[in-house]
Amino acid sequence: MSAFTNAMRQLELAATIAPLDPATLERLRHPQRIVDVQFPVKMDNGSTKFFHGYRVQWNNDRGPYKGGLRFHAQVEMDEVKALAFWMTIKCAVVGIPFGGGKGGVTVNPKELSKGELERLMRAFTRSIADVIGPDKDIPAPDVNTNPPLMDILADEYGKIIGHAEPAVVTGKSIAHGGSEGRGTATGQGGYYVFDVYREKSGFDPESGSIVVQGFGNAGQVIAKLFHHHGYRVIAVSDSQGGIHDERGLDIPALIKHKESTGRVSGFFGAREINQEELLTLPCGVLVPSALENQLTGEIAPRVQAQMILELANGPTTPEADAYFAKHGTIVIPDVLANAGGVATSFLEWQQNKTGEHWSEKEVFARMEPLIREAAKAVIHTAEKYGATQREAAFVLAIERIAEVARS
Ligand code: GLU
Repeated sequence: MSAFTNAMRQLELAATIAPLDPATLERLRHPQRIVDVQFPVKMDNGSTKFFHGYRVQWNNDRGPYKGGLRFHAQVEMDEVKALAFWMTIKCAVVGIPFGGGKGGVTVNPKELSKGELERLMRAFTRSIADVIGPDKDIPAPDVNTNPPLMDILADEYGKIIGHAEPAVVTGKSIAHGGSEGRGTATGQGGYYVFDVYREKSGFDPESGSIVVQGFGNAGQVIAKLFHHHGYRVIAVSDSQGGIHDERGLDIPALIKHKESTGRVSGFFGAREINQEELLTLPCGVLVPSALENQLTGEIAPRVQAQMILELANGPTTPEADAYFAKHGTIVIPDVLANAGGVATSFLEWQQNKTGEHWSEKEVFARMEPLIREAAKAVIHTAEKYGATQREAAFVLAIERIAEVARS
């Protein structure tokens, strides 16, 4: 299953919904630049190992390329291209002045020591230093990357250009110019989006239990927020397995359990389940927060959620989308649902540019309206064209890109 093929099918579907500018559509079918690098890293045992890294710059019509860096054993060009394309759509949906890019290294970072990981990040930064920059292309964290790694990128980049340039990357630690609230922004933004749809659809919190696939940064934060707002989070999984308790899981205790054991399984009182059981549990909201291609045409008929909130990028295939559309399951698309992360990256970039530091309250007071307005605009577009939420998000984004696109 190719994430990139799926992404392009989403684009073509959106093009059937509304009269979109053909030249802009054609621009969005092709990346502007692809950087494919191999670089050596000195390992702790004295050997030298080569790693494969990518940076795809999809489109910069609306501003500098923006998007995360992913460290994962399955990272390959097809995936990075899809993710870079989705960033282009996402930044336009949320109305921030950025284009779309994405990068990654094919590596399982859990197999590297701290020192090896730092040397890898430095070597990768040197390999892409020519093409990134605060007004050119601004990386950020993604799957398996975090603030300390972004700090290393900023440090290495600063050494190359001869002065500190924190705005070259977002998602840094606070001490190194990161923004308050960036760490929890993806989950927080997802909750704001959910809230807009809840008001709109009359979704009943009493009947609505929550299932979260993936317990990384985004998954943990959204689970905590749902729990905090009185919802029952009945099942959660990570890459090693899932757990289920119909009475609702104690999420703060589960986060502690995950921190001490490295996994969600083994949590006291919960039943162990596999990914397939998790995705097909009856629930109010299913929140895929892991990787692409989780909800496929094969599994879609067994999914019993009323609503799907895509915190992961690309978790639903076009076949599954078609099934959900036909059967009235609302899919809140990734390019809206997880846009709180990049929206807050924009606020971090603005703070770096002006030398300011805003409180978490100030940051969220700026991020929340960006996200709520984007959600309302998507809903409005869906109503206008009788489209799905994903088609509407794409139409909205492509219309916005067309306004500024140069040929
Ligand atoms: N990796 C995140 C995403 O997929 C954030 C990107 C960013 O902040 O630039 O949206």
